[in-house]
Amino acid sequence: MAKRVAVIGAGSSGLTSIKCCLDEGLEPVCFESSDDVGGLWKFKEKPEAGRCSIYRSVIVNSPKEMMCYSDFPVPDHYPNFMHNSMTVQYFKLYAEHFSLLKHIHFQTTVRSVRQRPDFSDSGQWEVVTVDRDGREETHVFDGVLVCAGLYTQPIIPLSDFPGIDTFPGTIIHSWEYKDPCPYLGKRVVVIGIGNSGGDIAVELSRACEKTFLSTRKGAWVIGRVVDRGLPLDMTMMTRARDLFYGLLPRALLNWIWERSLNQRHDHKLYGLQSAHRILDQRTIINDNLPGRILVGELVMKSNVQKFQGSTVVFDDGTVEEKIDAVIFCTGYDYKFPFLPASLSSGSDGDVRLYRRVFPPSLERPTLAIMGLLQTKGSIMPAVELQARWATRVIAGLNHLPPAEKMDKIIEKDIKANLKSYPCPKLAALQVDYIPYLDTIAKDVGICPNIAWLLLRDPAVGLRVFFGPCTPYQFRLSGPGHWKGARQAILTQWDRVAKPMKTRPIPEPSSFSLFFWLGLSGGAAVIFALMAMQKKIPLFLNID
Ligand code: FAD
Repeated sequence: MAKRVAVIGAGSSGLTSIKCCLDEGLEPVCFESSDDVGGLWKFKEKPEAGRCSIYRSVIVNSPKEMMCYSDFPVPDHYPNFMHNSMTVQYFKLYAEHFSLLKHIHFQTTVRSVRQRPDFSDSGQWEVVTVDRDGREETHVFDGVLVCAGLYTQPIIPLSDFPGIDTFPGTIIHSWEYKDPCPYLGKRVVVIGIGNSGGDIAVELSRACEKTFLSTRKGAWVIGRVVDRGLPLDMTMMTRARDLFYGLLPRALLNWIWERSLNQRHDHKLYGLQSAHRILDQRTIINDNLPGRILVGELVMKSNVQKFQGSTVVFDDGTVEEKIDAVIFCTGYDYKFPFLPASLSSGSDGDVRLYRRVFPPSLERPTLAIMGLLQTKGSIMPAVELQARWATRVIAGLNHLPPAEKMDKIIEKDIKANLKSYPCPKLAALQVDYIPYLDTIAKDVGICPNIAWLLLRDPAVGLRVFFGPCTPYQFRLSGPGHWKGARQAILTQWDRVAKPMKTRPIPEPSSFSLFFWLGLSGGAAVIFALMAMQKKIPLFLNID
């Protein structure tokens, strides 16, 4: 009989986990507390406690070719960077294509997940759920995949802001922000310059009388598009680049990157200057921030020192009066209240995980946590690989090393990140994109063998090595191999171009192209012969 696996959540991580269960012969039962798939990408007018929540205008920062599931490219006509509604549409297409919906119990919340008394033998879990009518049910599962998301617990560090209790205006977290309508004509301070802080400040600056963006440490700002208007990740996330940059000293790389970003817009001049070197922390992605600063509608400010009623005093001594609202874009914490407390092993209530997936303390590796990571690339393909690995471990097809070895690897990973992220909980989340994907892929046996590919199928090999590290690379061979992967790699740039081909532009006719090529080639030969005419007899050994 197939092993039964509980999948908690039907966001992008939950959907791929259901599919991976099916691929490995497991029987998935997914519990989703909302009434739809898509998780945080499904926009809701009002935030709900304990659930993720986004603003109306959110657009994915990862290009479609880099964020798609490895055996299901985003339709070619979809834009390269999708609005949240389209992202959900894509997830629905995936769910329908692989018949995943029938495995999902909507409006059913997981209340608790506990090891059964015979766990050390059976590896089984007792899962308690509550459905839409408040009916509680207890189920037994052979495995659990936690796909409950990270962005559920907004952090508002009110105690860091003396006098905040005297502020008469609105105070919210970005988790509650939906659109700029309530702030029309107002004076707003946005605190924090992560991706959300940048997006929200830009959006508000078009509606507010004035928008102030306050930051303690600044940030490196990079656009979604780079040279020739191509998507950032598709040009940057390549194996060749990783290999080449790996050979260069980090200080030199920092210098090159910072110089290149400062040439687009001088971060010091724009008040964005970061306290960190560019490679030490995540950059923020924003196409419009410098433009809004340039027109004066968005004003960069230092850290808020204190509030005095509706007056805000900043660290540099400057004062802004008559502030109507403060929006904290100060990030999130994560919590899995349904898991046993024993799994939260870190000092800060964090869950320590081997390769960011398995708690090493479990006697049997039958519970895995999906998507608990941060990286400079797209999260979705990383989670898909996690799910492919975790389902194989639960199915008994892959095995984990002994607990002591896993602990050592966890410690080593955290230590490597502590320099950039002094908070151990944050440090534990960071992974380098391609190396992380490859580490998991090697365990599953699906990491592309570049040398072999270059010999056997150079067209694909060259694209895998020099081109973007698209998820299809992990479907070329091994378990879960997909016949369409080769073609998907060969056509990945066509799908980038397709949505932009909205205005026919005539190609130069082949006659005129050949004519000019022929003419210039001929002229070059005549010119070379004339220049060498004295040497030719000598060269040809003619008297
Ligand atoms: P979620 O989408 O949060 O889904 C979790 C699901 O679990 C929800 O549907 C929830 O209802 C359900 N759930 C939770 N608890 C329970 C329970 N107890 N019982 C039953 N159901 C439960 N990543 C990128 O790669 N690229 C981007 O451009 C990008 N942009 C982002 C922008 C914003 C504003 C945010 C907040 C995040 C962004 N991310 C981005 C990261 C994003 O979180 C992940 O990429 C990914 O979509 C997370 O999917 P998930 O399924 O793990 O979690």
